[in-house]
Amino acid sequence: MHGHLIGRQGSRLDLNTPVLVIDEAALSANIERMAALAKAKGVRLRPHAKTHKSVEIARRQVAAGAVGVCCAKLGEAEALAAGGIEGLHVTSPVVAAPGLKRLGELNKVSAGLSVVADDPRNVDALAKIATPERPLGVFVDIDPGIHRTGVTSSEKAVELARRIQSHAALRYEGVQMYCGREQHIESFAERRAAIAERMDYLRAILADLEAAGAKPAIVTGGGTGTHLIDLELGVLNELQVGSYIFMDDQYAACELGADGAASSFERSLFVETRVVSANSPGLVTLDGGFKAFATEGKPPTPAAGGPQGAVFFMGDEHSALVAPGIEQALAIGDMVRLNPPHCDPTVEHYESYHLLRGDTLVDIWPVSARGRAR
Ligand code: PLP
Ligand code: MN
Repeated sequence: MHGHLIGRQGSRLDLNTPVLVIDEAALSANIERMAALAKAKGVRLRPHAKTHKSVEIARRQVAAGAVGVCCAKLGEAEALAAGGIEGLHVTSPVVAAPGLKRLGELNKVSAGLSVVADDPRNVDALAKIATPERPLGVFVDIDPGIHRTGVTSSEKAVELARRIQSHAALRYEGVQMYCGREQHIESFAERRAAIAERMDYLRAILADLEAAGAKPAIVTGGGTGTHLIDLELGVLNELQVGSYIFMDDQYAACELGADGAASSFERSLFVETRVVSANSPGLVTLDGGFKAFATEGKPPTPAAGGPQGAVFFMGDEHSALVAPGIEQALAIGDMVRLNPPHCDPTVEHYESYHLLRGDTLVDIWPVSARGRAR
């Protein structure tokens, strides 16, 4: 890994910055915790790999009991399949000719591959890239109300399910409904009320599908924000949680535990930066800016246990850490650990994860599907 340590062992303090690090103990605890929650309810776990894009992490999720992983894009699925991950489910429609061709190729080599569809013509196109001997799994995608993807009524869900069933080259897997808008409602009670209403809608569709002879075997959806509620309501029988492995500021702002309890998931992902200038009173300049973090929300925040202050972006490569006397407290070269505001788009900036056990570097993992946006 150019620019970083030579070899995979060393100290955190020797890392070049900005660098994306994982606290291995926290990552493992998060993976085990979600697996145990799903197992206790007899719910399948297919974590979303859009968060980490990593073969190594997908392997650990599968070893803990996941049935496979979800991918947002076909390119992610290709990268994870190349690393030997099976049970891949692509959660956005694949519609363009080159994508369909690649999906057909992937289906020949990747066991248990599936994709969503929300359009009858797309279903017919999917049937052309698979065979009855090697069928492609297809889920009816249901719009939870944001009109991003998915069928918009029960009637259309039934029609699409029948269409999938009519093709011998397709395996009708079930339905997907991912309630993205509800994930980050900060109050647990409000989030619960919102998702309960959406699950009532989904329940009605499931009843109609069953009546039409298209009872879905798998009902997949859910995210980190709603996982406890989804497990309680019992409408989904497969969870697609993604962010729980890393956590981030956006989820730290949400009451994830029921009835005000703390979240049982801990932060495991950080960006280590360094002070590159301490020339001005009340401010030091850090070496990570827009190119080191997701930038669609608030700026990053200082991680617990290190130097504190307010963080402001200062351009593509720099941020400011602002606090009274901070230029005295810190010197150039000092490390400052920051929390990513939003984990998934932060990861996309890095070619690798540096894995830490305490302050010891124990491994370097590639971000296997980085840049695989199509
Ligand atoms: N499923 C789908 C379709 C998603 O788009 C996402 C995230 O955007 C997830 C699951 C995972 O959600 P979270 O990261 O909130 O756990
Ligand atoms: Mn996200």
